[in-house]
Amino acid sequence: MSNMTEMNKEGKFAEIGKILSENESFLLMSHVRPDGDAIGSEIALGFSLKAMGKTVYMINEDGVPESLTFLKGSGEVTTPPSEPLDVDVAIALDTATKPRLGENSLHAASKAKLWLNIDHHLSNPEYGDVNLIDSVSPATGQILYDLIKFLDFPLPEETRDSIYVAVSTDTGSFQYGSTTAKTYEMAADLVREGLQVGKINADTYDNHPYRRLELMRALLNTLDISEDGRLAHWELKDETRISLELVPDDSEGLIDLIRGVSGVRVAVFFEELEDGKIRVSMRSKDKAVNVCDVALKFGGGGHAMAAGIRMEGPLAAAKVKVLAELEAALSQVA
Ligand code: AMP
Ligand code: MN
Ligand code: MN
Repeated sequence: MSNMTEMNKEGKFAEIGKILSENESFLLMSHVRPDGDAIGSEIALGFSLKAMGKTVYMINEDGVPESLTFLKGSGEVTTPPSEPLDVDVAIALDTATKPRLGENSLHAASKAKLWLNIDHHLSNPEYGDVNLIDSVSPATGQILYDLIKFLDFPLPEETRDSIYVAVSTDTGSFQYGSTTAKTYEMAADLVREGLQVGKINADTYDNHPYRRLELMRALLNTLDISEDGRLAHWELKDETRISLELVPDDSEGLIDLIRGVSGVRVAVFFEELEDGKIRVSMRSKDKAVNVCDVALKFGGGGHAMAAGIRMEGPLAAAKVKVLAELEAALSQVA
């Protein structure tokens, strides 16, 4: 169902429109360690609903990363309250599995009568009462744009800017193959609506703390590449995180540096997390190598060309297991 036909999609949009119109209070959530699409999607739908006079709560287990605080409306996205919220509808956005919303968010949502699940992850198991999963869409933000346009819902400036950032960050600045004519048409429409292209891109991409460069230097020192040049990886250890005083967001997108090397088919980033778990971030440049399939073997998920895992440590053991699966997947392709 994840590759939706236009007719299916419009039926689903209408069904969701009815739910949004007929209910009064909503709790919007997105995945832990949020990216631009996660926070952007919350603000986008949240402010459209607020403009309709609805009561809206926007939460994220980890709050808004510093790098996204420039987004108008981001100040209203909070960490979860300790008590469940009295809301009609819970809405999960950009979140591949229910546990990825985080325990505190799930507790906050536990009184909701109905669950909506709006996402673009191939691996999403449709855990909502009503699910809108379109794995062809490059970002959840674009699904929301189509939904808002179809339903003729308001597009306040917070929504306009957040949709742009959601889609821009999930498409590597409108570069990945998931970007279609509809994506550019959407961007053109947002610019016509008053979006400031230069400002929003500078805020999104030219606004990094210096420690991110120091992190890059540390990562480059761990860079390793297979003999055939097809599999490259690097790693971030506790000691580096501590000494550079890193926040989770600092490494966002750095994997693209290894992905950008010619000949590399798969790039992997291993990271020791504070809770002792290992985060694995994978990118494929080859349609024949589906990194989501590899992620699923370890309880992770994502998309065919970009996927992730949170797994047991220690780092060295996790590396051996994941690299072996990736080597096996690569050995199947020419
Ligand atoms: P990342 O490498 O963290 O940028 O994630 C790449 C893609 O995989 C994103 O769409 C994530 O939402 C998804 N993803 C990352 N980690 C996980 C996980 N542990 N479980 C399911 N999906 C994940
Ligand atoms: Mn995301
Ligand atoms: Mn996304």
